[in-house]
Amino acid sequence: MGEIIRGKLVADRITEEVKLNVESLKNEGFSPKLAILRVGNDPSDLSYERGALARMVKCGIEVEVFELSDDVSEDSLIAHLEYINNKQDINGILIFRPLPDHLNEDRIKHFISPAKDVDCFSPDNVAKIIEGDKSGFSPATPSAVVEILKFYKIDLSGKHCVVLGRSMLVGKPVSMLLLGQNATVTICHSKTKDLRSICKMADVLIAAVGRAKMVDESFIKEGAIVIDVGINMDDEGNLTGDVNFESCINKASMITPVPGGVGAVTTAVLAQHVLKACQDSLLFPGH
Ligand code: NAP
Repeated sequence: MGEIIRGKLVADRITEEVKLNVESLKNEGFSPKLAILRVGNDPSDLSYERGALARMVKCGIEVEVFELSDDVSEDSLIAHLEYINNKQDINGILIFRPLPDHLNEDRIKHFISPAKDVDCFSPDNVAKIIEGDKSGFSPATPSAVVEILKFYKIDLSGKHCVVLGRSMLVGKPVSMLLLGQNATVTICHSKTKDLRSICKMADVLIAAVGRAKMVDESFIKEGAIVIDVGINMDDEGNLTGDVNFESCINKASMITPVPGGVGAVTTAVLAQHVLKACQDSLLFPGH
């Protein structure tokens, strides 16, 4: 039976490190603070917000939530963003995406300050991931995948990583981060032919498709490491990943559960990014 990867262990380690650093910043008179900008009351946004609030409390990071109605105009949202960009006491901004259909993300993303963009919405930070420039911010979930692999001492150099999914939120950035760790990366999507055979070649399979339990043991090779990013509801209303855990556990060498895997680490990485944004603001004031 494969080893079950425990996201909580990874999250606890990151939280402890962030907390110590936040304490020393506070001793010097600086208090890291995150702004959450939420449009509407989508249940998955609210659930993530609760998790993020709890994590920031554990780390000693302050949070201010800006709640906008789901019919907010694009100009009003941008005005809020500019207000938060200019607020000296705020170091990081998290905007829940996808935004409602009437809001053009491709326009809005240009208005978030890259220095405060802790979840990689701005094109500046997206470009930095592709360039392998670590001075920016990668999105929290893809970074959580990499943190898990590092914590479990999985050396990615030369390994074949197959990423299922090519979204801007998960698939593409995680692929770039894995490439940065010297993995050989194959990206699959809904038009990929012979998906199973490609997945079966993976030393490390990252599932980010948003299809409950799609990946069963026929997608993985013996001894593969399986990282499940998916967060879905099954027919009974239970939280479930993109991987059929029961089917894969005996064939995989290591596997993340859902819940308790990647999701548990995401908010810890977000806290890490708020800390970095605060530290950067002291090193490069006015940046
Ligand atoms: P998304 O934007 O819907 O993208 C899904 C990707 O999967 C697309 O690239 C799509 O291909 C591909 N795909 C869909 N069905 C497929 C199929 N049958 N075969 C092969 N590829 C298929 O989703 P996302 O935002 O990346 O999120 C993916 C999953 O991660 C979701 O379950 C989401 O809830 C979860 N998530 C988790 C966290 C966390 O903290 N753990 C954070 C964010 C998201 P095309 O591009 O061809 O359409």
